[in-house]
Amino acid sequence: QGWLILMTQDPSKYLKALGYGKIYVHRDPELDFTAIVALHSTALGPAIGGCRCIQYDHFDTALNDALQLGHAMTLKAAMHELPHGGGKSVLMIPEHCDSKQRDLILKSFGNFLNELNGTYITAVDSGTQPQDMDVIATQTPYVLADTHLKSTCNPSYYTAQGVRYAMEALIEYKGYGSFSNVTIALQGLGAVGLYLCEMLLDLGANIIATDTDPLRCEQASKTFNIKIVEPEDIYAIQANIFAPCALGGTLNARTIPLLKADSIVGSANNPCDTSDHTEQLFEAQEITYVPDYLANGGGLIHVAGLYANLDSSWVDDKIKNIYTRTQQLLSQAAQQHQSMEYLAREFAYHVLQRSHQPHT
Ligand code: NAD
Repeated sequence: QGWLILMTQDPSKYLKALGYGKIYVHRDPELDFTAIVALHSTALGPAIGGCRCIQYDHFDTALNDALQLGHAMTLKAAMHELPHGGGKSVLMIPEHCDSKQRDLILKSFGNFLNELNGTYITAVDSGTQPQDMDVIATQTPYVLADTHLKSTCNPSYYTAQGVRYAMEALIEYKGYGSFSNVTIALQGLGAVGLYLCEMLLDLGANIIATDTDPLRCEQASKTFNIKIVEPEDIYAIQANIFAPCALGGTLNARTIPLLKADSIVGSANNPCDTSDHTEQLFEAQEITYVPDYLANGGGLIHVAGLYANLDSSWVDDKIKNIYTRTQQLLSQAAQQHQSMEYLAREFAYHVLQRSHQPHT
């Protein structure tokens, strides 16, 4: 069962449970960094997936993150019927690394990508910026960087747009009428969270938000008319929708019982700690969970459009289609008494099987 995600410290369990795939590890002793590329599948085409550069306490934690993210990218590309496989990279760099050393690391990473012959194409993710992609692009063509492209390689705005469309379908389905009748608990005021906040406020939503970085909270409260709460208090907010836009695993056996919202939709990849049987917890609390790889596909659609040199109307239409797809899955889930998660997975695996090619 490729979809069964086991939360464990032993990465070999992920390899099996998620149906991997190829894992590449590049260690540069001189620059003191490690890069991991988790290439889950190339069945539908070359994998496009962001390069995450955050602090990990342990190699296994980084590897587990890469493995789960790479798998999520396979589901995401299939969900949105894009001609791409699933893969993700993680960079473990020294905590206090100046810009010169960072550039050298990114160049070394770019050279390493050449060895993968275009089976994996890297892009922006948490902890990396478009400027970083430009540096990688000095060494390899297997990167989506502004220097090569006619539009920004930063997917965050497009990801936020997709989440907004998924929310719109949800609001209609739940009978809330419009965004102005809805309170959203927003977890994470990073690249996507800030764009989403702006879009939802424009649509009239009431937003209560948090971030573990106090500076981001301060900046957001100065820019937007929103209420800020402590990170731990976001779950119990009297809201209609909980929007996870931070890092993965925030929804678990401890936090889900705190939720007052009856729906979850956001940008975070793998927001559920599935070892806590989150699907059953959602069912018991009658919470509608819109799968991450359905709602957050806007960024991948944008970069896939850039990769294929398609015009912006193709990208816009495909992102708008997140509304229709969410609507369809919501009504199917109600009719068939199944979770959206189950149906979305079925759909993605059906698309993958149609390709009639084995995983990498
Ligand atoms: P980001 O790093 O810019 O922002 C994440 C924010 O979450 C940071 O401000 C961080 O301080 C905050 N945070 C971390 N843990 C938190 C917690 N427990 N509670 C509250 N805040 C917390 O990342 P991003 O690019 O905005 O992406 C957000 C999420 O969406 C990630 O899971 C990412 O993988 C996913 N995603 C992003 C894109 C994209 O286009 N950027 C696309 C698809 C999925």
